[in-house]
Amino acid sequence: MQRHLLFIPGPVTVAQPILEALAKPLIDHRGPEFAALLGRIERGMRPIFGTSNEVAILGSSGTGGLEAAIANAFSPGQRVLVAPIGVFGKRFVNIARTYGLEVEVLDTPYGHALDPEALRARLAADREHAIAGILLTHNETSTGAQNDMAALAAAIGNHPATTIVDSVSGLGATQFEMDAWGYDVVVAASQKALAAPPGISMVAVSKRGWERIAAAKSPRFYLDLAKAREFASLGQTPWTPPVSVLFALDVAIERYHADGAPNVCARHERYARAIRGAMIALDLELFSQPGAHSVTVVAIRVPEHLKADEIRRALREQAGVVIGGGQQDLKGKIIRIGTMGALTQTDILGAIGALEIVLLQQGHPLQVGAGVRAALEVFLGKAAPALARA
Ligand SMILES: *Cc1c(COP(=O)(O)O)cnc(C)c1O
Repeated sequence: MQRHLLFIPGPVTVAQPILEALAKPLIDHRGPEFAALLGRIERGMRPIFGTSNEVAILGSSGTGGLEAAIANAFSPGQRVLVAPIGVFGKRFVNIARTYGLEVEVLDTPYGHALDPEALRARLAADREHAIAGILLTHNETSTGAQNDMAALAAAIGNHPATTIVDSVSGLGATQFEMDAWGYDVVVAASQKALAAPPGISMVAVSKRGWERIAAAKSPRFYLDLAKAREFASLGQTPWTPPVSVLFALDVAIERYHADGAPNVCARHERYARAIRGAMIALDLELFSQPGAHSVTVVAIRVPEHLKADEIRRALREQAGVVIGGGQQDLKGKIIRIGTMGALTQTDILGAIGALEIVLLQQGHPLQVGAGVRAALEVFLGKAAPALARA
């Protein structure tokens, strides 16, 4: 079997000790070992969110966590301001509409981050406080752009809306300070920067968030956060949890803390910088704008003379390197290379080398080795400052 290395922005390449935890014998999910497991995971997640409040552990993908946030925090007819910067932000719009919320969209062109001043201005105009919720994306996986969540928190100031953040592809890769920034509900998932298999979402809720949840009237059952909290206090989940994935997530969180959050964040940043440097050296254009680059995924425009699907197919078949394409409107227009998961510098250099071969085969003129060299310079700490910022 050809080895496949996942450079897609989730699910990611998972380290062997984490995979091995999936094979452990199952335990009683109402017994003491499970209570210890759930407690460790919950406590381990708090510092990653930057919170001292409870984190609900749900059996769902990231989207289930987003749906839980909306279903629990609001009542039908309430107005929410959604500020999408890509496909995942638009998913927030769709979920909110599905729950009968009145959705106002604050648009940002794809590839850009949300301008804190635009958010500040819109909220300043909301003198009546008609906006009950603000829905933001930390890292927009579809465009390779990342929002500055500290700056957005400052822009929100003391507007009383309940703030919800999709940090599914951001949390763990960039420092997040939920309590200090004052966000109410923050959503993450197991299969992104935490580098575990898919199947679990984590929803951190502030004190004010729990109050809003108690008052909100939207229907909810499987994704009832108050119920998850009540059961968690007994060391359980309301429904049968994905026990094996929790075993794996437990090991992943332990390894995350052993590596140290600052080192893990620096690694994602370095990998993203190396890949961006390589793409520029190969005469390819980044899709994300300077100052808005994601650390977990690099989105690259596909020039007219190339085809995204052909690049991806050749990389997969010839080199076992699996990268992402564009979603929805961006299909065929971009390719995406993720930095999350158990990837080494050698893996990154190999993938860039493989991409050089594929680009040459498909008629893209390039200087052989230019991409690998640019990445090496980042890894060796020799990248020119201009490139480092690119
Ligand atoms: C991956 C991702 C999600 C969740 O997707 P699922 O497939 O439901 O896990 C949500 N938001 C962002 C920004 C993501 O990258």
